[in-house]
Parts: sequence; C-alpha cells; structure tokens
Amino acid sequence: MPDFIIKMKPMIVDYFSKESLLVFIMMLLLLVFILLVLVYVLRKTDMVLKYGIFWDKNNNPHCPSCKIPLNIYGEYTIGNGFYCESCKAVYPMADRGFEFSVSKARKIMNKMK
Ligand SMILES: [Zn+2]
Repeated sequence: MPDFIIKMKPMIVDYFSKESLLVFIMMLLLLVFILLVLVYVLRKTDMVLKYGIFWDKNNNPHCPSCKIPLNIYGEYTIGNGFYCESCKAVYPMADRGFEFSVSKARKIMNKMK
C-alpha cells in the first residue's frame, strides 16, 4: 500500500476499538434523548395568567400555583374563587378588586382571541 494512503487513515481508528466507538455513539444518542425529554418537560407553558388564575387555550381554569385543572368554584370566606385540592387553597378570581363569574371570564377570554 502506498505511504500516503496509510497516512490518510483516520487517526481515531488507531486509538479506539470499533466497540468503544459504538458505545460512545450510543452514549451520545442517549444524551440527545435525555436533552429532548428535558426540553419537552421544561417547555414554556401556553397558559395565560388572567384574573389570578391560569387559563389554557380552551379557557379551562388551572391553579396559579401548581397548574392542575381547577373544577370547584364557589363562595368562600374570602370571596368567590376556585379551590385547589392539591394546594388546599382558595384562589379568588378577580380583576382590580371586582369579582365576577367563570362564564363572564370565559366570555371575555373568548373575545380576546
Ligand atoms: Zn394548586
């Protein structure tokens, strides 16, 4: 074999076996997968904070603290609001001190779209 062809052989082959290179590639693929999962988990939420409550794109209320869906709306000692079972807290739905109903909030949110 001519001398220059031997010199063109990639140097990485001299230092690492095919098996260790394969392991290295698999580790890189695993790292990429972990990064993709992280990006998916940490992606920006598309919920809107309005009237002290998070609203998803279908105008369903979510807890402003833990972001789970809220269902129980009612009258509490601090006023009307949503009760989060996870946080054990009431989140009043109000805008500049004025309380209003869920349906009115939804109507306003729909107009904003
Ligand atoms: Zn909560």
